[in-house]
Amino acid sequence: MGIPALQSFEAPNRSGRNFAVYTIVALWATKSGLGYDGCISAQGCDATVRQSPRRRHPSVAPSRELVADLVMANRIIFIKNIVDGYGHISARHNGDPNLYLMSRLCAPGLVTAKDIDTYDLDSNSLRQLGRPYSERFIHGEIYKVRKDVNSIIHCHTPHLIPFGVSETPLLPIYQMTSFLGGGVPVFEIREHAGMSDLLVRDPKLGKALAASLSDRPLVLMRGHGATVVGSSIREAVYRSIYAAENAWLQMEAMRLGKVTYLAPEEAQLGLHINNTSTDRPWAIWSHEVHTRTK
Ligand SMILES: [Zn+2]
Repeated sequence: MGIPALQSFEAPNRSGRNFAVYTIVALWATKSGLGYDGCISAQGCDATVRQSPRRRHPSVAPSRELVADLVMANRIIFIKNIVDGYGHISARHNGDPNLYLMSRLCAPGLVTAKDIDTYDLDSNSLRQLGRPYSERFIHGEIYKVRKDVNSIIHCHTPHLIPFGVSETPLLPIYQMTSFLGGGVPVFEIREHAGMSDLLVRDPKLGKALAASLSDRPLVLMRGHGATVVGSSIREAVYRSIYAAENAWLQMEAMRLGKVTYLAPEEAQLGLHINNTSTDRPWAIWSHEVHTRTK
């Protein structure tokens, strides 16, 4: 059945063909009893549908390609063990830089196109498809200050945790992680919230995290996880996967003795290939997702 997958692509634009599709689908959904934004329970998402008078539709629809990449990215970071039932990835809206796209609260491995909601940079849900992630402020506050960032991943990846709680810095151990060459900051939430549950649940903490990230591609979060950014979805996914690989390799190498890391010059020289070759691994990761979901 193709109609549910169509919903989130076509709904936002209130003019022209898109709005016609929106209307047809909405009528179908109402008649079928599913509800326009109804979640198929077998997909595993929170099926709560909230209809609110505050619900808004963005004036411009995101491209199909962007939504498809965002859904695929959710699946990839799940199969690559960057996220499990927790964690999330967003993408800046390609029709309005003051908006971003992210799934409603859902395990990343189960996200479909119809789960993709639209948020303003204060992290208010526009379409109100369902309960949002409590840590969505990470995304909105970073997009506000990092105009170069078009995708953000927040994760609790196990291999990264030791480097956020120890005095050992995460350093680039091979050419795949040249992007780590400028240093990896660690966000200490105690400096901003005292004793807390460590979650970034409000704009103030999101802003503090964005400041800690500064102009870097990755910030570790002490006792919590990490946040990774990229100029595209594919770059953010690439960085999250290879940062985790680097963490594992670094711990293994340290067991053997003194480790030689990339020199700053080597890291700088490796950046170009890091930043321009993300389509190749994306292709095989996408293939793996398709293979697993058949
Ligand atoms: Zn978290």
